[in-house]
Amino acid sequence: MKWSETGVKTLREVPADTALPSHALLVRGGFIKKLSSGLFTYGPFMVRAIQKFENIVREELNKKNCVEILMPMVQPKEIWEQSERWELYSDLLQKMKNRSGQEFCLGPTHEEAISDYVKNNIKSYRDLPFCLYQIQSKFRDEIRPRFGLMRAREFIMKDAYSFDLDEEKAKKSYEKMRSIYQAIFSRLGVPFRVVKADSGEIGGDQSEEFHILADHGEDELLLTDSFAANKEVCPVFSSPEASTVKSTDELEEVHTPDIKTIEQLSRFLKVPESSLAKILFLSCCFPSGEIKNIAVLLRGSDELNLYKLKKCLKLEKEPVFLTDVEIKKMSGANPGSCGPVGLSIPVYMDRELKTLSSLITGANKDDYHVKNVVPERDFKVQSVGDFRYAKEGDMGLDDQSLRSCRGIEVGHVFYLGDKYSKKMDVFYLDQKGKKQTVKMGCYGIGITRTVQAVVEQSHNKDGIIWPVAIAPFSVHICLLDPNDKKTVEWANNLYQSLQEKKVDVFLDDRDEKPGVKFKDADLLGFPLRVNVGARDGKAGLMELIERRTGKREKLSFDKVLNRVLEVINMSF
Ligand code: ATP
Ligand code: MG
Repeated sequence: MKWSETGVKTLREVPADTALPSHALLVRGGFIKKLSSGLFTYGPFMVRAIQKFENIVREELNKKNCVEILMPMVQPKEIWEQSERWELYSDLLQKMKNRSGQEFCLGPTHEEAISDYVKNNIKSYRDLPFCLYQIQSKFRDEIRPRFGLMRAREFIMKDAYSFDLDEEKAKKSYEKMRSIYQAIFSRLGVPFRVVKADSGEIGGDQSEEFHILADHGEDELLLTDSFAANKEVCPVFSSPEASTVKSTDELEEVHTPDIKTIEQLSRFLKVPESSLAKILFLSCCFPSGEIKNIAVLLRGSDELNLYKLKKCLKLEKEPVFLTDVEIKKMSGANPGSCGPVGLSIPVYMDRELKTLSSLITGANKDDYHVKNVVPERDFKVQSVGDFRYAKEGDMGLDDQSLRSCRGIEVGHVFYLGDKYSKKMDVFYLDQKGKKQTVKMGCYGIGITRTVQAVVEQSHNKDGIIWPVAIAPFSVHICLLDPNDKKTVEWANNLYQSLQEKKVDVFLDDRDEKPGVKFKDADLLGFPLRVNVGARDGKAGLMELIERRTGKREKLSFDKVLNRVLEVINMSF
């Protein structure tokens, strides 16, 4: 490809609405252009990077006998009603009507559509197993699209679905897909980790995410050398030992004027935050349909994890915090002076509090706290559980302490069981002619998010540093004297010879100054650059520069081609 034929213009300045370096670099390099919030045009360079990554994904999936299909992006309401997700999927689901009033949505994912596709084809146990995948645009009406392709509304996803006879076989398919993902992400040459993720209602460890590690990643990960989890779901592994001494002292009220936060209370009483107890009030929708208010008690230094609370209490929806007015009505005091003593609602207690011989809590009276509070003596505990976020320094599974780092979720593997097959009527007849539900798994890779995540991982102040695996082009020829016939000829000859060798080569043939071309070459970040200029050319030389290391070498014309091939092949 020649620059003059692309219509691409680069930008010198960092565009205004770009919070991440990768987003800014992709916009500046003309890789992407925003059409509207969360909607992007992929320019010619981006399309090539995307296609290269898609082909890696295809190669690895095909190698393991997964088969490609393509489903419509627009899906009818009926299948979403059948799976009971038309309402449940929330506002992310973009709904629409056609002229005769039929309702549709833009596919955010395809469990419903694939179930509908396979159900007529699966009759007997002999028809299983198989695994299908597609690479296609998805649409999610994200509340806050941001960071360019990281959280877009329209984005490209690879989604795969496995179909098996029973749970054991389905778990093997899950493991197979996990290893395919390992192979795919290893080929990108950037650091990644597989982390435990939300396993939904199925439980166990059947859901894992693949994260590319990057300082500005949206997710916090907690990891050791052999364990990793998304902070959102990371259990607290150490089981805190209950204090053997329980205070026998009487409750004692303390005047704490204008003390509203744990930090203020800790300073005022000269007690560490970890020795104080804080209380939070929430409204919960229980499986029976009953909506009840509850209180949760935690160490002052800990943070409540709503995911864990929801899971432990088997709630349908995420619990909602009560307002200040509701709290006052419930406890008699404003937030900051509330505690468990005398409350008439169930009180759940985090395990860590068992380590304290007594608690210091709010007194349910404005500007007062109370000391020597002993659980079960002074208030009833509904149940004790792991309700707090795990954090850096906590013990991991392997007796190493957890480190915190940030990651970008680029893939997700999920064991579904018969969650969809039951509702969507996907079954087979076993050897005895008995109806059995098909066991499914679903597996996503954010194609466009991954490409940007690689840029986020691999750039410097001058621009992108593409790994060869998904670089739009391997070689960038800078034609430094576009008005000198001889130089043009040398550049074109090199361009052609590289094309003949099937090397992805890009030629900057614009009528621009060398300085402009060098800056743009660094910004676009293709792995190798060859400067072809009149001065060196007359001496029979061209200059080869590696983008990643900055290493430069001047080579005679006949050596350039071989050296380029050598470097590119080494990088694979
Ligand atoms: P997130 O938690 O980031 O919202 P998700 O867990 O809802 O994502 P999945 O349903 O697991 O996403 O989708 C599979 C993959 O699609 C994700 O791992 C991610 O790489 C990608 N993806 C999801 N939402 C977006 C988006 N809005 N923009 C770009 N890629 C996305
Ligand atoms: Mg996910």
